[in-house]
Amino acid sequence: FNVPALKNEPVKSYAPGSPERSELKKALAEARSKEIDVPQYIGSEEIFSQNKKRISPPHDHQHTLGYFHEGSAEDVKKAIDSTLEARKTWAVMHWEQRAAIFLKAADLIAGPFRAELNAATMLGQSKNAYQAEIDSACEIIDFLRLNVNFLTDIYKQQPVSSDGVWNRMEYRPLEGFIFAITPFNFTAIAGNLPAAPALMGNVVLWKPAFTQVYAANVIMKVFKAAGLPDGVINMILADGPVTGDIVFKHPDFAGIHFTGSTKVFQTIWKEIGENIGSYKTFPRIVGETGGKDFVLAHKSANAKALATGLIRGAFEYQGQKCSAASRAYIPSNLWDEVKGYMLADLAEIKMGGVEDFGNFVNAVIDEKSFDKIASYIDGVKNNPEEAEIVAGGGVDKSKGYFVQPTIIKASKPDYITMCDEIFGPVLTVYIYDAEKFEEIIPIVDSTSPYALTGAVFAQDRYAIQYATEHLVNAAGNFYINDKPTGAVVGQQPFGGARASGTNDKAGSVLNLLRWVSPRVIKETL
Ligand code: NAD
Repeated sequence: FNVPALKNEPVKSYAPGSPERSELKKALAEARSKEIDVPQYIGSEEIFSQNKKRISPPHDHQHTLGYFHEGSAEDVKKAIDSTLEARKTWAVMHWEQRAAIFLKAADLIAGPFRAELNAATMLGQSKNAYQAEIDSACEIIDFLRLNVNFLTDIYKQQPVSSDGVWNRMEYRPLEGFIFAITPFNFTAIAGNLPAAPALMGNVVLWKPAFTQVYAANVIMKVFKAAGLPDGVINMILADGPVTGDIVFKHPDFAGIHFTGSTKVFQTIWKEIGENIGSYKTFPRIVGETGGKDFVLAHKSANAKALATGLIRGAFEYQGQKCSAASRAYIPSNLWDEVKGYMLADLAEIKMGGVEDFGNFVNAVIDEKSFDKIASYIDGVKNNPEEAEIVAGGGVDKSKGYFVQPTIIKASKPDYITMCDEIFGPVLTVYIYDAEKFEEIIPIVDSTSPYALTGAVFAQDRYAIQYATEHLVNAAGNFYINDKPTGAVVGQQPFGGARASGTNDKAGSVLNLLRWVSPRVIKETL
């Protein structure tokens, strides 16, 4: 098969004076100067309802970017019918035609839509320019392009034939429609969750998070501009439970591609279980969920590299990454030095709106999230015997939902902020006896129900080996001497186990394999 090479999209720098910087600034100003209406996309129609909801930047919540049009149960039913109609031609289309559409979509994002999609992610989700570029430009482009290579790897896997017998395997799409539910925090996930099953010949009903619709709208525009036939991906904007109630009872429901919280995924799994007798086929259940990601340092670790890894891992995108470093185990010999480096870094970090490219920290996504994070910080302030605030701790929602990067020092390893997924710029550290590395490992392993990402920092090879072997089930993505965030498509296939999901590794053949239902044909010649 002749498809483009496996190559990641280079990250643009947005350095002062660069053409990409002025283009992005222009796109931001344009987006702020008008109000848009985000419709639902069902078949060839754009549906505008009477039920309009305001979209505002989390860092400037009084400003109106536009409105999205919330959908109803009737819209969900109509969208399912429309996908099933589209399936008649899409499922039998030659894979090269499908691939060409998604490769074209990648090129459109790499070129004419790059600034618009980055600006939408920056304004709608309060992501700074660099974080937006690695998400809504590079990562989504990589998913769209590299998935085509993974598809051809799958199709190449064929059974052995013998004299007079020709055996072959057809990688058919699933029988029915796929439901993609996406979270607010990554535009790339919003694009990939519907696109990956669609590339494999499936039709998809897609429900983005209400807090991410501003960028989701641009993704739909890109798919349309790339020539995606009507109905192959329908974007609906009905509330999660309203949508779920119809989808999970539908006989043609063939699979769920979910990313979001563990609690919502558990609810969905239960609903599927309750209806299991009513489907034509056992649905594929793929979900990437929460995390409480650890950094474990050994007494031999490089203190500077560790401090940098903690600051970047915990506070980039306000800690709103499923992979964010949120609990750290620091040996007693290194704590003073690591603390010194972290406080020096934090003194340099600026917080504010995304329009000022010098701001490293922006706002958290919405008021609900802000209040939740603030309540954990208040809990520390009211409980000095168990924990103390080492840095930050300030919160302000008057203009935007701002939470200062906060470091908490816990006096016991199971303090609440060492265990719960807070999903904000909050790092909790626990200082352990530097001579008792082997004893801290079972604590790292068992403190949280999640197993998404984790990192070990050490220069001693024995410590690296020991941690790698003894934390074998504690993280689906394990980093050695690096922060636990940042998985590049094709380089670090991503996903976790335990309460963190079904571990079907986004950005690899493993994920795409979930969206096919192979048929083996034996032909006697
Ligand atoms: P969320 O669970 O609140 O929402 C995710 C999606 O589910 C949204 O589209 C929401 O509208 C929808 N939803 C909510 N209730 C529903 C229901 N009853 N039926 C159907 N759909 C429903 O998550 P979020 O706040 O958008 O995202 C943050 C969470 O996502 C965190 O827990 C984070 O760890 C996780 N996440 C995980 C990964 C990963 O790869 N493991 C990646 C990104 C985010």
